[in-house]
Amino acid sequence: MKSIAEIAAQLQGYDPQALNADLVNLFLAQLVEPVRETEEVGVFDALGRVLAQDLVSPISVPPHDNSAMDGYAFNGSQLGADSPLTLKIVGTALAGRPWQGDVAAGQCVKIMTGAIMPRGLDTVVPQELAALRNAEISFPPNLVRPGDNRRLKGEDLQQGRMALPGGERLLPAATGLVASLGLKTVRVRRKLRVAYFSTGDEILSPGEALREGAVYDSNRYTVFGLLSRLGCEVIDMGVVRDEPALLEAALSEAAQRADAIITSGGVSVGEADYTRATMKKLGDVAFWRIAMRPGRPMAVGRVGNALLFGLPGNPVAVMVTFLAFVCPALLRMMGARPSPLPLLKARSQEAMRKKPGRTEYQRGIVTQMQDGRLSVYGTGNQGSGVLSSMVQANGLIVLHHAQGNVAAGEEVDVMMFEGVV
Ligand code: AMP
Ligand code: MG
Repeated sequence: MKSIAEIAAQLQGYDPQALNADLVNLFLAQLVEPVRETEEVGVFDALGRVLAQDLVSPISVPPHDNSAMDGYAFNGSQLGADSPLTLKIVGTALAGRPWQGDVAAGQCVKIMTGAIMPRGLDTVVPQELAALRNAEISFPPNLVRPGDNRRLKGEDLQQGRMALPGGERLLPAATGLVASLGLKTVRVRRKLRVAYFSTGDEILSPGEALREGAVYDSNRYTVFGLLSRLGCEVIDMGVVRDEPALLEAALSEAAQRADAIITSGGVSVGEADYTRATMKKLGDVAFWRIAMRPGRPMAVGRVGNALLFGLPGNPVAVMVTFLAFVCPALLRMMGARPSPLPLLKARSQEAMRKKPGRTEYQRGIVTQMQDGRLSVYGTGNQGSGVLSSMVQANGLIVLHHAQGNVAAGEEVDVMMFEGVV
């Protein structure tokens, strides 16, 4: 395990006082290691979990050639270019009830979707293309080619081949695929345990009486939501006041119980914030000023064996730093292959002021234009405390480090977050 100082020393351009946002993820990639323990879980419980090892297909899917249509199965070598084909129906094949008999030239079998192709037959004419009369069908030439409307054995998954790579996050399509192999259980990495608390003397929990100078805690709720969507086991540690003894107790307990700790508030250089001092005392922690907006102050390191993310206090900054940095780091810890949220191109409906030398994440509303392209406009007030703008937004406009002002009509990158976490 590398120390903060070792990672910092190896990172080109590392400046903790004005850290390029792109370097944060490079740094975290070095700091984070995947949890090792695995467990076998039922397929329903595997949703959102990370596959611990490559999954090799024990069977082929589908397990035999079968019909893709309701129609009539026959041997396609009889198809000619000029004359209609007439075939006598000699049996019926249903899904789950195969036709076992032999089918000679000039004969066919009525077949339903999913039914096994009878021996020697390779082609299906859909029922709507065939005229039926007296247990015979006929259909014109050039409608069907040999092999049409037949699904081949193993065309989805082949026995002995890799069905899913280790590190795959098992989303609904993947759990369905696991089940399609007939597997009742699957080996996944154990869930990540993440403890979180908010800090600050002014922070009230919902239900407490509002007093002058105080604000209700929102960060614990957004962080809870983000972590739950990621599939972490959450440990809610409440609000911790700005008192060294309380902060120390909370951090030590969190480090005992969790793989990762997420705090919010107290990491900027405010006077009454003891959070930084306590983190420094208990762990190996870097305090950064990231060249970004919103966000800026952030602490990262280890307390005991737990990874620590000390996020800023402002509610939007918490969500943005989570999406940009914490989420990829936690995915890595969960053993998932890192897959950053894709950036899409959208046309900015308005001009935006932007200073080169920092990364800005503006809350945006992305819509599709008549011509199918994407268009984006800001949610208005981009203050880092304006949580309502995060509710309105469906993505973040990412204005990169070196980028300057944006003209109306110019294309910008957007990171869609709706439904992602
Ligand atoms: P700090 O980083 O502690 O200086 O906090 C920055 C700003 O975020 C202050 O205005 C705090 O009141 C506010 N803030 C900090 N924590 C929370 C929280 N859990 N919920 C809502 N606002 C918060
Ligand atoms: Mg504070």
